[in-house]
Amino acid sequence: MRKKLVVGNWKMHGTRAANAELLSAVLAARPYAADVAVCVPSVFLSEVAATLASSDIRWGAQDVSAHAQGAYTGEVSAAMLHELGCRYTLVGHSERRAYHAETDAVVAQKAQAALGSGVTPVVCVGETLAERDAGQTEAVVKRQLSAVIHTLAHCAAEMVVAYEPVWAIGTGRTASPEQAQAVHAVLRAQLQAATGRAEQMKILYGGSVKADNASQLFAQTDIDGGLIGGASLKAVDFIAICRAAG
Ligand code: PEP
Repeated sequence: MRKKLVVGNWKMHGTRAANAELLSAVLAARPYAADVAVCVPSVFLSEVAATLASSDIRWGAQDVSAHAQGAYTGEVSAAMLHELGCRYTLVGHSERRAYHAETDAVVAQKAQAALGSGVTPVVCVGETLAERDAGQTEAVVKRQLSAVIHTLAHCAAEMVVAYEPVWAIGTGRTASPEQAQAVHAVLRAQLQAATGRAEQMKILYGGSVKADNASQLFAQTDIDGGLIGGASLKAVDFIAICRAAG
């Protein structure tokens, strides 16, 4: 049985004071049956690491450079994240793909850079509404995942995958448990064909997960937890979602 994982994606939100308040509530509500992590803006990583260091809550980044080091102004390398104790980094979030023109190839290189430095990439895949309406959901997510599988090769089983339909992110519109499960099953079959170890891999669902829909989503056979955006910023909601994964 796979242990569930709930990852908060704070996006570009937070202040030192608000982060401290949020994390103190999340820490006080332990223990959780699921693994819990927060992916925070990189400028806050040191302080979040210090706050969470003696707990079982993990932390991570929201992006990582595909490059190891060098003249890449503004970028943060996987080795830097590792030095700050990051367990995870998001890779290929739809906002990075849309606003920073990240291609499948770049996402794959970032995932490889993360794994190479001992940071687990949470690889995000998902279709737009137009792609879903055109019946292309399966083809799109398989293409996105395939690029990463190909690049990671024998290490592919080390990644975490997050299925995040773009039309459900930050919109309040969630995929139904059945819609999400159908795509997760496709992804697990693809991972199994590539790695032979898909039964041990985690596939998270993300897209308007809230306290009141989390249990139903997490009850699906192939949904191993969630990637939580907006609701990870409110302690009461994030704690409820973490508990729903128990
Ligand atoms: C996300 O940012 O990964 C996300 C799923 O956002 P939200 O939960 O707000 O839809």
